[in-house]
Amino acid sequence: MIIIDGSEGEGGGQVVRNALALSLVTGQPFRMTNIRGRREKPGLMRQHLTAVEAACAIGGATCEGVAVGSLEIAFTPGRVVPGEYRFAVGTAGSTSLVLQTVLMPLLLADAPSRLVLEGGTHNMMAPPFEFIDRVFLPIVNRMGPQVSARLVRHGFFPRGGGRIEVEIAPAKLSPVDCIDRGPLQSVSGTALFAALPFNVAEREIKTARRILTDWPEDSFAVRQLSDEQGPGNALLLEAVFEHATEIVTGFGKLGVSAESLAKTAAHRMAGFLASDAFAGPYLADQLLLPFALAGGGSFTTVKPSQHALTARDIIERFTGERWVFEQQSSGCHLVRHA
Ligand code: AMP
Repeated sequence: MIIIDGSEGEGGGQVVRNALALSLVTGQPFRMTNIRGRREKPGLMRQHLTAVEAACAIGGATCEGVAVGSLEIAFTPGRVVPGEYRFAVGTAGSTSLVLQTVLMPLLLADAPSRLVLEGGTHNMMAPPFEFIDRVFLPIVNRMGPQVSARLVRHGFFPRGGGRIEVEIAPAKLSPVDCIDRGPLQSVSGTALFAALPFNVAEREIKTARRILTDWPEDSFAVRQLSDEQGPGNALLLEAVFEHATEIVTGFGKLGVSAESLAKTAAHRMAGFLASDAFAGPYLADQLLLPFALAGGGSFTTVKPSQHALTARDIIERFTGERWVFEQQSSGCHLVRHA
């Protein structure tokens, strides 16, 4: 039994999700204490509970301690059974984070799967749907499996009600090298909003344009969703390179001005464009799991985040394999198997 202190390193929900995925793939049970020990409200929240329940459902697993607020779980994996599953977070909790939990076990299974995930699709501190679809999945698909995702309905905090559908054609994960992102091919900025004043979106675009001065005027657009999907707002800044795509998102939130979120997002995008990294900070922590399960490959990224370093440590606990971040002369970090 692998024992993990959930407050170590980054100490958040990703530790739980990565441990669940790794346990299902490697067949090793684990016990986790101090779950989300570094978060303001420690313990399992509704969205983590859905992730644990989803892992149990697809993996014939049993888990002790599954309750909102639980600080400790003991998870025993069974056999992963591909097929059709529907998981509803029940709140605006992120659908993409539930997907992260079950995706690797299902894409390594021996038959296709289809998932319907309900909850939030554009949540703070989680990958928005577009990130999963256009940034993360294209790399996974390059490794062998074929996964496609469809957004049926948007879900914003606090209302939720979003729905995504995912088709998974499994295959062995093959190592790939993602070093060179290639030349920049196109850029776009989309201010997505529902049931909010139009000028929120306009102000976001105006602010982003002032920072991303060389982005063409017609690369920016406002996208108004039907009122019943709101209220909600996100500014998505997308840079498409020949071999990689990056999406930086600013999430609308009560108390944060349109200008402020757009400024932060645009500066982050400008920073990424100025680097020559293949993966941004979020993609880097999300790629570690598929790369580790492929048993090799490499990618370049910006300075590793606490999330990435913690993902690396959890992977080592389950696989015994160490991944390293080597700073390059360009300032980028090369991530590879030690
Ligand atoms: P945790 O904070 O432990 O629940 O983990 C959050 C996960 O969401 C990590 O895998 C992050 O890479 C990912 N994430 C958070 N914010 C974003 C974002 N703006 N874009 C893409 N991924 C994100």
